[in-house]
Amino acid sequence: MNPACSACSTSLAPRGINLGYLPVSHDLLLEPSVDPHSHRRIPFHLVQCPRCALVQTFEAPSANDLIPRANWVSFTEPSLHLEDFAQAVLSILPPTKTSMIGGISSKDDSLLKILAASSQASTWRIDPTVDTGFTGNSAGVSWLQETFDQSLANRLRAKHGKSDILVARHFLEHVPHIPRIVQEMISLLKPGGHLVLEVPDCEQGLLVGDDSILWEEHHLCFTAATLTRSLRLAGLKILWSKSYQFPNETCLAVIATPASPTALTDTPPSPAEFDSFSTFAAGFPDRCRTIRHLLVTWRKHGAIAIYGAGHHTNTFLHAHKITDLIDFVVDDNPQKTGKFIPGTGIRVLNSDSLRHPEVSLCLSSLGFSAEQRVVSASTAFTNAGGAFYSIFPKNNRSPFRWLAGSTLTPP
Ligand SMILES: [Zn+2]
Repeated sequence: MNPACSACSTSLAPRGINLGYLPVSHDLLLEPSVDPHSHRRIPFHLVQCPRCALVQTFEAPSANDLIPRANWVSFTEPSLHLEDFAQAVLSILPPTKTSMIGGISSKDDSLLKILAASSQASTWRIDPTVDTGFTGNSAGVSWLQETFDQSLANRLRAKHGKSDILVARHFLEHVPHIPRIVQEMISLLKPGGHLVLEVPDCEQGLLVGDDSILWEEHHLCFTAATLTRSLRLAGLKILWSKSYQFPNETCLAVIATPASPTALTDTPPSPAEFDSFSTFAAGFPDRCRTIRHLLVTWRKHGAIAIYGAGHHTNTFLHAHKITDLIDFVVDDNPQKTGKFIPGTGIRVLNSDSLRHPEVSLCLSSLGFSAEQRVVSASTAFTNAGGAFYSIFPKNNRSPFRWLAGSTLTPP
């Protein structure tokens, strides 16, 4: 039996982009190995629900396959927009000294801190060990995606009472069943309470053919339309939403309040929502061919590196099947240097490696802020003729600006 859509429970068909298995990006190897048993792998087949248009992986990955094994693994979420997002929360729902604001994971700490500093409200956040007994690496939300159930909600209500606001940043894109999770979150709210949510916004990525929206940890790829529809089906009404766009990532922030669930017939998808995914999926083989062609051409001029030993590099290499064309990965995290990208013989070296005169091209998979810092610190490399480009099609520094038209010339 085919899996059911995570928003509307319609049976899914295995049509879309099938990448086979993607290695878990933080399972860096001590030795080079292409052996599929040397690291964990996630089946990754991106499909679209034929009824509600939500783009999702055919199978939801299990938490067991994703929880970081190493204690040094951490995750960084975009933060440049948080002051603005906090102001939106405070203008719609000004907390008082009797207000309670909850959060669910460490990804919520930064917004909780701003909200607490700007109001008289008290805050709380789920403690993985105390509240759930989890003793592994609780970075990210993999540990929580199957743990957030009625029993945990009961314990949280007994401990903190009901809250005026519950914050959940970058969590919904991981969950296997949206209505169930939303109902548990609603059960933590006082009457008239609000959920403050944020997910990656994949709308632009689907439109411009940006494969960096693919990540083995993300089961769901939301657009503004599919997020709104998914939340309405789950029993929420959106009061405010905003898409925060950065060159390398886009976030969709919403403030929502409980309402009667809407029927799918009252919120049908537009034909454009289906066209967008069909075009993205149909263009994938061409993108793979073009990237390979570009890298083969560039490699005649020297070695090619990628900056950043994180999930964007992992997906870029494995989804496009170009592990044979990259000479090394650059990362100054001492926990990563010397190790190997899973499923490859590609070693992670520190940034001194860019001084080698044979390196002609360095692609960046970093977030925008980190990329700015690294580009500024790499003038010796660029002054010596090295090219520093981005893998993100929306970035001005990218050679993969498919729709904007790029000058596809070697560095
Ligand atoms: Zn659906």
